[in-house]
Amino acid sequence: MPHAVTLIPGDGTGPEISEATRRVLEATGVQFDWDVRQAGAETLAKQGTVLPDEVIESIKRTRVGLKGPITTPVGRGQRSANVTLRKQLDLYANLRPAKTYQGLRSRYENIDLVIVRENTEDLYAGIEFQRGTSEYEELLAMIGRTTGHHIDPNSAMSIKYISVAATRRIVKFAFEYARANKRRKVTAVHKANIMRMSDGLFLSTAHEVAREYPDIQYEDRIVDNMCMQLVQKPEQYDVLVLPNLYGDIISDLSAGLIGGLGVAPGANIGSNYAVFEPVHGSAPKYAGQNKVNPMAMMFSGVMMLRHLEERDAALRLEKALMQTLAEGKSVTYDLKPRPDDPGAVGTSQVADAIIERLKSF
Ligand code: NAD
Repeated sequence: MPHAVTLIPGDGTGPEISEATRRVLEATGVQFDWDVRQAGAETLAKQGTVLPDEVIESIKRTRVGLKGPITTPVGRGQRSANVTLRKQLDLYANLRPAKTYQGLRSRYENIDLVIVRENTEDLYAGIEFQRGTSEYEELLAMIGRTTGHHIDPNSAMSIKYISVAATRRIVKFAFEYARANKRRKVTAVHKANIMRMSDGLFLSTAHEVAREYPDIQYEDRIVDNMCMQLVQKPEQYDVLVLPNLYGDIISDLSAGLIGGLGVAPGANIGSNYAVFEPVHGSAPKYAGQNKVNPMAMMFSGVMMLRHLEERDAALRLEKALMQTLAEGKSVTYDLKPRPDDPGAVGTSQVADAIIERLKSF
């Protein structure tokens, strides 16, 4: 039986890397029944939305999505398609591995981090107030009455909220992941010394959950210290669990540690559905140039194969990617010592090289 998968090419460079990824996934011999659904700039122009309902309906049917990046127009009233998708499907865990592979230009060796980011709440939940609106004035009046803080009305506000239920499930996810993947340690990351209510709740809930997993080491770190520690001694860390905003920032930092966004994969996982996508965005300035690196999306494809229990195909595709990286010949500009290196190949040539390798094992 082929696996039904919703394929969302996205926009910007998304369609090119999606096509390259679809080709290598098919070359593993696994059968797919792709349901290709458009979202992003094109549907915004044609249908007035970056995320048509049929995309959500398709994933509800197939239960699995493979997604290219989608541009979020800044400050133009459209909510991010990515945030909406994660919220509507309750994809509460964002899983972002960061691992050093031979051939990547990184200052470090032996990094093998897994970032588990809460995906549904915190400052990213989209509860925001615009200055000058009656709702905002009402909120400011209430804040003044109850706290004595008189906030400048010529301001705007985004609400940060963190719940016990969402924290419990993300921290449990991190520990379950650690157990299933033979990981030794989970580090909870927070700023509870300053945000004593929201991050304080995250931290105390994480402590409680950790007690249910005595077989796995547990510690916590304040987010600013975590940034420094990751830059100084990343090899000391294993699985990190974080609220949404810190998780987003630390996962890009971790992508930088291992050699760049071009190879950093991700998965958004909920109780019923999972959507796999690279960490990077749509890199629109390179759209249509057959230039950007498809490997982050291909590694996301490896994660999807594991999710579909196609372990052998996942291993083979990962091996083909690793060998291609180590050889350093059929790689895009971002993996070369200089971005204008004449030896850099294009997006589709990376796919050709990986397909060739897959034939040999
Ligand atoms: P970006 O990740 O698109 O690009 C930043 C830079 O990183 C690029 O200019 C390029 O130099 C490099 N880069 C990114 N991907 C690469 C690849 N595959 N190969 C080689 N180099 C690569 O980040 P941005 O410019 O901040 O965001 C562009 C748009 O993408 C924004 O609208 C943003 O909201 C959106 N975005 C979407 C997602 C998603 O769909 N999940 C994630 C992040 C950003």
